[in-house]
Amino acid sequence: MPLYTFLCNTCEKEVSLFLSLKELRRNKACPECRGSDLTGPLENEASRSGNDNQVACSLSKKS
Ligand SMILES: [Zn+2]
Repeated sequence: MPLYTFLCNTCEKEVSLFLSLKELRRNKACPECRGSDLTGPLENEASRSGNDNQVACSLSKKS
């Protein structure tokens, strides 16, 4: 199952949940406070910095 990161608006913590697509569409609960007011899934930090590296690499090749 893929790992999704959510921001809990109740306890203001970032929480990671393993969810199937079915579960992603259902109501989700924060594992910290059991609140259901979650924002996300958030973009993965690791993949975002990886994309930045690729852009920097291709730019330096062109110039
Ligand atoms: Zn919470």
